[in-house]
Amino acid sequence: MNASFPESLITLSQVYPVFFYALVFIVSLMVGSFLNVVIYRLPIMMERTWKREYQEYFSEQSATAESPNAEHATDAKTHEDSQQPAPFNLVKPDSTCPSCGHKIRAWENIPVLSYLFLKGRCANCETKISIRYPLVELFTALACTFAVFHFGPSVQALWAVGFTFVLISLLFIDIDTMLLPDQLTLPLLWTGLLLSVFNVFVSPTDAIIGAAAGYLSLWSVYWLFKLATGKEGMGYGDFKLLAALGAFTGWQGLPVIILLSSFVGAIAGIAIMVIQNKGKSLAIPFGPYLAVAGWLTLLYKSEIISAYLDMVL
Ligand SMILES: [Zn+2]
Repeated sequence: MNASFPESLITLSQVYPVFFYALVFIVSLMVGSFLNVVIYRLPIMMERTWKREYQEYFSEQSATAESPNAEHATDAKTHEDSQQPAPFNLVKPDSTCPSCGHKIRAWENIPVLSYLFLKGRCANCETKISIRYPLVELFTALACTFAVFHFGPSVQALWAVGFTFVLISLLFIDIDTMLLPDQLTLPLLWTGLLLSVFNVFVSPTDAIIGAAAGYLSLWSVYWLFKLATGKEGMGYGDFKLLAALGAFTGWQGLPVIILLSSFVGAIAGIAIMVIQNKGKSLAIPFGPYLAVAGWLTLLYKSEIISAYLDMVL
């Protein structure tokens, strides 16, 4: 696939590697700033949609129950449409300070630099800004630059960067809300399957089996756990995420992802329990570990598998 990657970018990376990687770093830093918006707003958008659908569903039901007159129901609907709430999506409204409502100006929105320049406080009311915003930006930039460095200037590098963006959004949304939105997991799954048609990371056979086996493996764990304990150990979002990861890494990547995520998850879980001194029923999202393990597996699948086989054989 290297052949179809723009020759000029390959040349740039060879002649001016520092400039090339600095460019990758800066661009992904700016995307990281946008990911902060996605992480904050997507769950709120989902909640608004659910509320609206819930209200629509039940108002329709009560409308038909109260009056069989269809005209009446139509009137109510028109009335509802006339009071649309203000738009809330990834672009609108403009970002504001949550405590004073001050509109964030362009120079206050420069990734990392603005945070340092403003000393982590709102320019207007001096309320503290969470350190997580610049950290998400830095984390995104480092992960993307590393992925590009790993794959070299290629089509793989380009898609690995997109993969990184989606996984970082999922990771923080799951930490915040215990949700892995379909709006992110499903497009990631389709993208992984479509890329396999061009053999970008794996063959179509490996990707299709990887996606199906990824979904079914956690689905079976879920039902076994539920039948054994009567509790729900994980959410459906986890199945969809592992299906998407299986589409990118092929079925060969799945055991690596499951081992890595259980390992990291167990260590982090114990650490969290010790630090917070909470009981074992504490719900910990599994998505972040799957995301980290999936990212490492996309980059190092063959190295991890051969290191493991060397150890065992
Ligand atoms: Zn403020």
